[in-house]
Amino acid sequence: MNPQINTLFVASEVVPFAKTGGLADVSGALPKALAALGVNVKVVMPRYYSIDRETLEHIPMALGVDMGSMGELWAGVYRSHLSGSDVEIYFIDHEAFYGRSGLYHEEEAYADNDIRFVFLSKAALQLSRALGFRPDIVHANDWHTAALPVLLKTTLREDAFFKESASVLTLHNLQHQGVFAKELMDVLGVDWRYFNPMQLEAMDNVNLLKGGIAFCDALTTVSRKYAHEIQTPEFGFGLEAHIRAHAHKLYGILNGVDYEEWSPAVDPYIAARYDSNSFEGKALCKRDLQERFGLPLREDVPLIGFVGRFVTQKGIELIATVLEGLLAMDIQMVMLGSGEQWAEAFFSNMAGKYPDRFGCHIGYNNALAHQIEAGSDLFLMPSLFEPCGLNQIYSLRYGTLPIVRATGGLDDTIVNYDPATGEGNGFKFWYATPDALYHTVQWAVDTCRYQPEAFRAMQLRAMKAHFSWKDAARQYLDIYLALYYQNRIKRYQ
Ligand code: ADP
Repeated sequence: MNPQINTLFVASEVVPFAKTGGLADVSGALPKALAALGVNVKVVMPRYYSIDRETLEHIPMALGVDMGSMGELWAGVYRSHLSGSDVEIYFIDHEAFYGRSGLYHEEEAYADNDIRFVFLSKAALQLSRALGFRPDIVHANDWHTAALPVLLKTTLREDAFFKESASVLTLHNLQHQGVFAKELMDVLGVDWRYFNPMQLEAMDNVNLLKGGIAFCDALTTVSRKYAHEIQTPEFGFGLEAHIRAHAHKLYGILNGVDYEEWSPAVDPYIAARYDSNSFEGKALCKRDLQERFGLPLREDVPLIGFVGRFVTQKGIELIATVLEGLLAMDIQMVMLGSGEQWAEAFFSNMAGKYPDRFGCHIGYNNALAHQIEAGSDLFLMPSLFEPCGLNQIYSLRYGTLPIVRATGGLDDTIVNYDPATGEGNGFKFWYATPDALYHTVQWAVDTCRYQPEAFRAMQLRAMKAHFSWKDAARQYLDIYLALYYQNRIKRYQ
């Protein structure tokens, strides 16, 4: 029997309360899977403006949060549960920081993001104390909460309440590191001796993620391949040497998928339900998708989908470069996303220019994301880097074969089609060049069009793949247990 582990899981976004990307999916699902394995987990996030207080339970408690040079600031507390579970999620309420329409930015990043998220970390610890919830593990995610491992190993090192708490930091995306003016040290309240290039300092600024990496007890990323990649200059965003120095505590754990939400057998958003035994519904979904984008209702034309942020990471420059060439192949393509202005304008213009073969929806639309997964034959993810990637995993379940660049989680989850054996579950390319993308799409489209039996066999196989949160949670629990026992041993040293 394992000991019961208390885990304080802190994240800046959690499904279904607030989401901009995969971090929210993980934060909404992993704690539930951990709880199913017996972990006593409490989740903490900000009470953003978009989360209606009326839908939450007010906890009559005011947290005094020591913000160093800013003095003590106060936070209110609300509570709810992760959907379909009894895992508690607590919301830190502070109007001046979170009462805004965006999570991190509107037109531009909020100028006080450093303070907003240091406050989240500190308030989460304060909440834990107020609840009498002594965490064996404090699980931080990305730069927003990377101050947690720093605080635990510095100002709270000898704190009676937290001195046995170990920390895990999960990197969902290394590109964003939380780099701020060094005055943040005084708000953190951490001794200036930690402001050095091995710990919190980078080019005379504070780098919160760097500090988190230095001080956490275990560092994880969301795929094995990405765990290797971030130790190289191409993917390390300047932190590769720092991560190599901490590689002894680095683990790659592939995300799972919430199949209750992402499965064509139960999906309420799509035109017809289907699974690998009754596949006919997929044709109806394709027709429905063509209608939604005003495309000709053709069953025979390969339809390629894309859902994601319009940012360089996702390979949108590559797509833009070859788009007209791709559309000349007699295909249809639909894109859903938002992001860089040039990309929004470019893809919208292309939809105007090629209304019979290209559709584009700018914005965030969960239902449409499901409809694209279900209605497409192929799903395009030419990411320059991809820590895990969720859409390609969803695509597999919908029998929509991914076309991916072999990086990070895309490489870990997609097996390249082998025409000799018929094996594989998608189409891969290695070099991030327009040529490689173009020819791989052509290969996928030709396979779809001219080898329908091989394509269908691959679709049916893809639908059976299972990337479960249970498997991922077991690996996190192994890390939790190792840290728990290490801490126990330390008592006797
Ligand atoms: P990232 O976290 O880098 O954005 P992931 O593939 O890990 O990429 O996760 C993206 C998640 O966000 C998926 O669940 C995807 O369906 C969703 N998503 C991204 N953009 C949109 C959009 N415009 N509309 C609806 N859902 C979106």
